[in-house]
Amino acid sequence: MGQTLLRKVWDLHTVRQLATGQTQLFIGLHLVHEVTSPQAFDALRANGWKVAFLDRTFATVDHIVPTRERQRPFLDVMAEDMISALERNCREFGVRLAGLGDDRQGIVHVIGPELGLTQPGMTIACGDSHTSTHGAFGSVAFGIGTSQVRDVLASQCLAIEPMKVRRIRINGTLPRGVYAKDVILEIIQRLGVRGGTGYAYEYAGDAVSRMTMDERMTMCNMSIEGGARVGYVNPDETTIEYLRGRPFVPSGESFERISQWWRSMASDADAVYDDDVEIRADELAPVVTWGVHPGQSISVDERVPTAAESGPDAAATTDALAYMGLSGGQPIAGMKVDVAFVGSCTNSRLSDLREAARIVKGRKVARHVKALVVPGSVSVSRAAEREGLDAIFRDAGFEWRGAGCSMCLGMNPDKLEGSQVCASSSNRNFKGRQGSPTGRTLLMSPAMVAAAAIAGEVTDVRGLL
Ligand code: SF4
Repeated sequence: MGQTLLRKVWDLHTVRQLATGQTQLFIGLHLVHEVTSPQAFDALRANGWKVAFLDRTFATVDHIVPTRERQRPFLDVMAEDMISALERNCREFGVRLAGLGDDRQGIVHVIGPELGLTQPGMTIACGDSHTSTHGAFGSVAFGIGTSQVRDVLASQCLAIEPMKVRRIRINGTLPRGVYAKDVILEIIQRLGVRGGTGYAYEYAGDAVSRMTMDERMTMCNMSIEGGARVGYVNPDETTIEYLRGRPFVPSGESFERISQWWRSMASDADAVYDDDVEIRADELAPVVTWGVHPGQSISVDERVPTAAESGPDAAATTDALAYMGLSGGQPIAGMKVDVAFVGSCTNSRLSDLREAARIVKGRKVARHVKALVVPGSVSVSRAAEREGLDAIFRDAGFEWRGAGCSMCLGMNPDKLEGSQVCASSSNRNFKGRQGSPTGRTLLMSPAMVAAAAIAGEVTDVRGLL
C-alpha cells in the first residue's frame, strides 16, 4: 500500500515510540526567534547543556523589531532586552543569527525558504504556530512552545503525537481576483477552526499543482488556523526549481541527487488517506472575515450572517458581531476601514507585493486610511525596490517599512489604536490581536487590502483589476 508524505517523513525521523503513545522525532531544522527562545537558552545554561546540532539551528529577529525607527537601543525597553538576549545567546551557544542589519533578516517563515534552509522531506520546528508554512516544500513542519524549544535545542528531538492525514484537493481554475489566501480562508470556513485537530492537511489537486511556491506557502501558513498543526504540499518540479541555487541548498551533481530524493518523498498515487475533501476553485470569490476567528468569513459579495442563521454557533456569532460593530444581514462590502496592512508571514512575499502594487498603481489611498506595506524580509524588500514597487506604494500614499512581523501582532510599535478597523493580509483576527484590545481585523488577500486602502472601505478587488 502506498504511503503519504507525512508517513514517509515521520518514519524516517522516528527515534523511538514512547510509552505515552507519542513518537520521539528527530528535527531536521530548528528555526529560532527572539520571543520564544530566552527561557529555553536560560534552561540550557542552568543545566550546563550545549545546543545539540548547531548546523540544524538558525535564528533571526522578527516579532518585536520596529519597522520604522530601528536605532539601538530600541525605545521599548522590553523589546531591546529580548533582542539583546537573543544576540547574547546566539554568541554564547554558537547559533547562526540573521540579526538586524543582516541582509538575511526577516520573518522566520519567510527567510527559511528564501535561504533554502527549508527543504522537502525534513522535519522542521520553530517556536511559532505558523511554522506550518514550511510544509509548502513537502516538509513536516510545526510550531512548538518554549519548553519544546528547549528540548530541541538540547537534544534535536521532540515528543509528538501521531497525526492522521486529510487530503484537500483543490481542482479547477481560480477566477481572476481570487488568490491562495481566499482558498485557505474558504477551507477554514468550510471545515472549521477546529476541523483539522489531529490531522495534517495535504493540499493537492490541479489548482495546487499550478500554484507558485509563494501561493503554497500562504495556504500552508494558515493550516494551523484550521486546527491542523501541519499542512503540506507534495514536492514537485515547482518546488525543485524554487530551491535551485538557494544559499543552503547543495549545488551541481549533489543538487540533482538530492532533488531525486525530494521527488521520492511525495505521497504515493495509491496512498490511503484518513479523510478526503474536494473544493472547486472555479466557484470561489474573494473572501473577507467578518468575525473574531479566521473561520468567520464570507465572500466579499455576501452579507454577514445573523445569529438565527448560525445554528449552534449563534452565541459566537452574536458575540463576534457585537465586537466587530456589525449587524447580521449587513453586506461586508462598504464596511469602512481605518488601516490597511500588507504584510505578515502569510502574505509579505514579492508576489504578494506585486499583486497589491498592481491594484494601487496610479491610484491614491483614501484620505482617512493609514496604509502600510511591510516586506517579509530584507531580501523581499530589496527585490521589490529593484522593481520600483516601493515607489508605486509611496506614490499612492502607503508607508514603506523595514522587514518584520509588524502589525500582524501587537508586539512592536505597529499597533491599531482604539477600535480601528484594519484590512489585513495577516492570519489572525482574534480580539486584540493587532495591539489594541478593541481593534478590529478583517483578513483578506493583499490585493483586497490594496483595494480597501484605495476605496476606504471593504470593496471587491475584481472591480479594480
Ligand atoms: S508574521 Fe505574525 S504569524 Fe507570522 S511569525 Fe510574525 S507574528 Fe507570527
